[in-house]
Amino acid sequence: MAKVIVVGGGAAGLVAAWRAASLGHDVQLLEANNRLGVKLRISGGGKCNITHGGSPRALLEAFSRPQARFLRPSLLAFDNQAVLDLLHREGVETYTRDNGRVFPLDRQGSAGAVVAAFETLVRRAGVDVRTGARVTALRGQAPRVDGLALDGVPITGEVFIFATGGASYPETGTRGEVLGWLKGLGVPVRPWFPALAPIPLQCPRPAWEGVSLREGELRLAAGVTGRRLSAYKGDLVFTKAGVSGPAALELSQAAEQARRDGAAWLTYAAQLEPAETVEAALLEEQRTNPRLLAATWLQRHLPERLVAPLLQEAGLERDLMLKELPKAGRKALVALVTALPLGEPQPVPLARGEVAAGGVELGAVDPRTMALNGWDNLRVCGELLDVDGPVGGYNLQAAFSTGYAAGSILKN
Ligand SMILES: Cc1cc2nc3c(=O)[nH]c(=O)nc-3n(C[C@H](O)[C@H](O)[C@H](O)COP(=O)(O)OP(=O)(O)OC[C@H]3O[C@@H](n4cnc5c(N)ncnc54)[C@H](O)[C@@H]3O)c2cc1C
Repeated sequence: MAKVIVVGGGAAGLVAAWRAASLGHDVQLLEANNRLGVKLRISGGGKCNITHGGSPRALLEAFSRPQARFLRPSLLAFDNQAVLDLLHREGVETYTRDNGRVFPLDRQGSAGAVVAAFETLVRRAGVDVRTGARVTALRGQAPRVDGLALDGVPITGEVFIFATGGASYPETGTRGEVLGWLKGLGVPVRPWFPALAPIPLQCPRPAWEGVSLREGELRLAAGVTGRRLSAYKGDLVFTKAGVSGPAALELSQAAEQARRDGAAWLTYAAQLEPAETVEAALLEEQRTNPRLLAATWLQRHLPERLVAPLLQEAGLERDLMLKELPKAGRKALVALVTALPLGEPQPVPLARGEVAAGGVELGAVDPRTMALNGWDNLRVCGELLDVDGPVGGYNLQAAFSTGYAAGSILKN
């Protein structure tokens, strides 16, 4: 039996602490906040998208290839069904939406019910839970951690598990400082990088705040005339400062990377067919329906609120009929529905991401135990690792699976 110190009482730390205590270890869980699972409580807009349905293999495919390879052993050992079985045994009923996302049954405070279940599990397993306990220093040198400091008070242990999360939403306790400590000890890390965040734009459209573009594709190119870098099919919502919604979140990391590389340009294709096909259809419409207003045609593809300002920007009269539309006007209309220019992204805020990319490099960690290579008693799990999945329950599942692996400490 070992004395195990788990730092961080979020998704990964709760599972790590419960698992280690269930194996008979003497576990202390240190959480900076005054209560456990603060980020879990706000996840999924307070509803908590716990995991994603489907086979573990399908789940892994949502991650980048190196991340999937790393996650495979821990996810197979504690997969989505295992998480749900555990929660069901604690009385948390769940349902799966058509898009595969799994949530607790829709009730007031459903994310809180998930946290309560994990809290019950850790306490029942005998974990010594300390809240309001922010660890301020890590002492040691490879291959051993000697101890921690909690506001100057030393904490000793035999195994140390860091589950301190990422660096977004710092108000939830995740300030990201532990990555710097690990780096200082020679652990390979990739700096925090924004992901799954809204994208601010150089020329935002505050007047369009709240307008959604649906079922199209957000596209990222290396500059106005540059090559296509990335694209994501999904809805987009205009905000005061730029764009948000599923497509913006999913493309935010690539947009920030392109911006840092020197050239990034965003467009939204409300109509997914090629411009030539859309133009041919518009030509046919001009022939068969010459008195149709250009505004009415545009409104078939874009929200009504955008029609008048976009026509004005394109230099077209509001009451223009298709029969009066010159070739240049036709091209302009087609461009608006196939490549609505959103423009250059501004720095994507790390703090507003649903996850932070970057973290401890995966090559430095044993994927079965989350032990750091070259260290005898140091493990890391959850978002502190360089793992970032898409929206859909994948990030919590990664935290649960890697937490379980970190807590699976064999007895000597
Ligand atoms: C708004 C929002 C919505 C989200 N929705 C979803 C969703 O629906 N589904 C999904 O899969 N993912 C979602 N995510 C992502 C998901 O919540 C995280 O990936 C996941 O919580 C990471 O778990 P973790 O245990 O690694 O870190 P966290 O849950 O962030 O836990 C880390 C804990 O460590 C503590 N800590 C940090 N430093 C110290 C220290 N020095 N000493 C002591 N304690 C410390 C923090 O206070 C924190 O409680 C969302 C994220 C956000 C921000």
